[in-house]
Amino acid sequence: MLGLMQDAPLLLSGMLEHGARYHGDQLVVSAGLDHGIERLDFRTLAQRCRQLASALLAEGCRPGEVLGSLSWNHHRHLEVFHAVPGAGMVLHTANPRVFPEQIAYALNLSRARWLFVDPDCLELAERLAPDLEHVETWILLARPEDMPATTTLPDPLCYEDLLASGKADWAWPSFDERTASTLCFTSGTTGPPKGALYSHRGSVLQAMAVAGAGVQAYGADDVLLVPAPLFHCNGWSTPYTCPMTGARLVFPGRELEPARLLRLIVEEGVTFAMAVPTVWLSILEILREEGGDLGRLGRIVTGGTAPPEAMMAELERDYGVRSIHAWGMTETTAMATYSHIPPGTPPADRIAIRARQGIPMQGSEVRIVDDEGHPLPRDGAAIGHLQIKGHWMVRDYFRRDDVRLTDDEGWMETGDVATIDSAGAMRITDRSKDLVKSGGEWISSIDLENAAAGHPDVLEAAVIAVPHPKWQERPLLLIVPRPDRAPTAEELRDFLATKVAKWWLPDEIVFVDELPHTATGKVLKTALRERYAKP
Ligand code: AMP
Repeated sequence: MLGLMQDAPLLLSGMLEHGARYHGDQLVVSAGLDHGIERLDFRTLAQRCRQLASALLAEGCRPGEVLGSLSWNHHRHLEVFHAVPGAGMVLHTANPRVFPEQIAYALNLSRARWLFVDPDCLELAERLAPDLEHVETWILLARPEDMPATTTLPDPLCYEDLLASGKADWAWPSFDERTASTLCFTSGTTGPPKGALYSHRGSVLQAMAVAGAGVQAYGADDVLLVPAPLFHCNGWSTPYTCPMTGARLVFPGRELEPARLLRLIVEEGVTFAMAVPTVWLSILEILREEGGDLGRLGRIVTGGTAPPEAMMAELERDYGVRSIHAWGMTETTAMATYSHIPPGTPPADRIAIRARQGIPMQGSEVRIVDDEGHPLPRDGAAIGHLQIKGHWMVRDYFRRDDVRLTDDEGWMETGDVATIDSAGAMRITDRSKDLVKSGGEWISSIDLENAAAGHPDVLEAAVIAVPHPKWQERPLLLIVPRPDRAPTAEELRDFLATKVAKWWLPDEIVFVDELPHTATGKVLKTALRERYAKP
């Protein structure tokens, strides 16, 4: 027997309109634009999204087709982000930070006919244009006065003019909630990038789960700083959760220079911020050197790579900022697990628990399996391949029938290696391709990096496997020292000996000025292996 409940599809336009109607005065703050900060309230945001959507349909865009964007975070990109899926089309958010060949590959695969271009990405778009096989219409995300005097792009439209031609009272259509909404590609450090095609239903459920997940929940008193780009994992779902909860959205723009982020945090009264650990490490470095504080900031979400415990401890001890550690990947829309502190946990144990990637948000489930795919115990000791399933995990890659991502029961391979303890908390020990296998035993590069990052003279640490004649592989530790510090290899090894098993200690420690990072803030281990791990 079916329940007698009303049934309406879960559509993203509903979240936007909720924000306009019930949190209409709340703001989207776009910093980092050439002409200064722009502030737009949610009421106007929704109206502009309706105008844009109706204008696009009037210009001949068809429901179901893919439109592309090449842009940093600001309200115009946010409008495209809502308007395109809201009208039943799909937005492919191309990542301007990856190699141009990868951008062209992805846009050719998605067959986008329209491309929205940030004026700041104009040069990149001009370079890409000859290689884009399907793009016919270029729209510059600009005001008429900011349109370039000359460009090699063929007759680009001015975004504000296009938007002005649309109808403010246009009504969002209703359609199947499984309709595709946005398309996001992996950073593709190995092989061509792979596309994750999200749906309205998955994105709505993900946003609802995030906004309600324990300490992570936020509301209308919160001011969210979102350096996480819209082109990666739906901007960690903040374009949906902010209108839904009424929280203010602050976009820092392209430059994520730590001193500027710090200024924004204080000046805009940011209470909650989301960013990868490197951002927090650099901000702490400034505070240590120059003094100051983090204003109203009370909580951060950090993820994308494992945060050092020392960083979370310093944020909490010296600035009263609680860290929520989250894990997710392009294939999981945005975050899928978060650190959960069970009630009654003694304060001394909290940071160690936060260092775990944590429990799945309701609506997703995780497990670990051995090499043959047999489930492993949840005892905190067994290490296995992490698999996940749930409402916002992708099933297959976009137009890649040659790759199998999920098994018949819906378990998706994550490529991560983890333990799960009896309380269900998951701890990533490695990316499977980053594992160090020494004498048949696994050494966790993440644990070693975390231990090294706890040394007071260390700014950043990375571990890679290097071939070894006897042990097959041994860990190599690369260290970026803090400014004006010169730790020695011997000091570091003595320090590590108090934190990890003796056979984990790296035989070699290399000091470098900086580490290469991917477009999404992860250490680019392929480049390090290329340079340091050649047999
Ligand atoms: P991407 O698809 O670029 O978002 O990368 C996803 C991968 O980043 C995951 O499979 C993990 O290897 C890594 N990752 C994301 N969040 C975390 C985290 N909190 N701790 C450790 N690794 C993480």
